[in-house]
Amino acid sequence: MQTKRYDIVVLGGGIAGVAAAVQAARCGARAALVEKTIFPGGLATTGLVYLYLPLCDGCGHQILFGMAEELYQASMKYGPGQREEKRYMGIFSPASFILALDEILDDAGVDVWYDTLFCKSCVTAGRLEAVEVENKSGRLRLEAGCFVDATGDGDVAVSAGAPYTEGRNTPAIWEIHHADGALKNSRALSDGQERFCGNWKEYEYPGVSGRVVTDFVRDTRRRLRAFYQEKYAKDPALKHKFFSMLLPSMATFRRTRAVTGLAAMCDANEDAVFEDSVALINEWRRPGPVREVPFGALIPKGVKGLLTAGRCISSVEESWEWTRVIPAAAVTGQIAGFASFMAVRDSVSPGEIDVKELQKKLLAEKFYLHRPDFCAAVPSRPAETADAGHVR
Ligand SMILES: Cc1cc2nc3c(=O)[nH]c(=O)nc-3n(C[C@H](O)[C@H](O)[C@H](O)COP(=O)(O)OP(=O)(O)OC[C@H]3O[C@@H](n4cnc5c(N)ncnc54)[C@H](O)[C@@H]3O)c2cc1C
Repeated sequence: MQTKRYDIVVLGGGIAGVAAAVQAARCGARAALVEKTIFPGGLATTGLVYLYLPLCDGCGHQILFGMAEELYQASMKYGPGQREEKRYMGIFSPASFILALDEILDDAGVDVWYDTLFCKSCVTAGRLEAVEVENKSGRLRLEAGCFVDATGDGDVAVSAGAPYTEGRNTPAIWEIHHADGALKNSRALSDGQERFCGNWKEYEYPGVSGRVVTDFVRDTRRRLRAFYQEKYAKDPALKHKFFSMLLPSMATFRRTRAVTGLAAMCDANEDAVFEDSVALINEWRRPGPVREVPFGALIPKGVKGLLTAGRCISSVEESWEWTRVIPAAAVTGQIAGFASFMAVRDSVSPGEIDVKELQKKLLAEKFYLHRPDFCAAVPSRPAETADAGHVR
């Protein structure tokens, strides 16, 4: 088997994986990014989830910075984009975002491997030393000083033997449809590429497995057919005016696996102040609440040489809703990029890096780390549940 060696190998090229690989490369590491599709962006692009959730607390204060903001701007660079008026968020064309993400990866000098599937973790004495991937050339062994699991599903950590929690998923699908007349409208994105997202509570798919992926995508498409059948039954002329143009080419699971870390984000510690906090993240469903992210939530239990980033970090219950979305994935990806660089530089496992130095790097990116600091910085902030509205 052919072998290649990098400083850092990031598995999974979704938002978290891109942020991790780019940050590691910007620090000077030789970084590779392995992605099973031919697109960067994961659910945000391949999954057609084209709504960049807010960077603000909903009370008028930006709370997420660094790559979360950079990628937000990038999502609109090659397309019209559309900023939401009420919160610091926006919608984008998935194809335009792909072009911008490719550019960012190129500029950072990341060695990207598309159409390449992570297959197996190779662990020696509790340390992840290499991964096996497969593409048109066959099997390849990638060795690195540190790895980042950004597969969304925790594939690398689970293959390395890390414990995890399974999520549950209601069938949901986003599509881009044609709606007659929409492109004549200047707000083409919202009118021409309206999303269809169904949440059917009557059935929930557990975690992820070969069988579940197929059952899930077939079910969501069956439901979408039923949606159009119903529309056309009511108005047959609609068939020529309103139809599906593009469907996601990855399964649109929200929560599959949360890899158990040295620390966990969960309901019991939602208000906690963690000494090793590396970010403050926001609530996207309602204005106000913020939570700290302990660095330990990115370090899988029992596996050295590995970090997690994105929707598979150690975050369960309500916290999972906070950490699994696009901006938070960019945040934890960037943290993993910095941390993996430091681990390789100092020849240690991510769990042994100098967290104070990591926190310093993040503060330089304008991250908030602790709730009290944020509250002190914005004393005028209304009560946590107040709908105070507007940013920018
Ligand atoms: C139905 C639905 C609606 C959502 N709505 C919103 C929304 O409105 N706004 C928002 O901000 N977020 C939303 N989200 C969440 C959000 O899109 C994602 O959870 C977020 O982008 C997570 O990014 P990630 O990088 O952690 O994971 P993913 O986006 O899942 O990226 C993982 C990447 O890893 C790759 N990969 C997986 N396994 C392998 C392997 N074995 N080998 C190689 N590559 C692999 C995948 O192809 C993918 O590119 C939604 C999610 C869903 C499912």
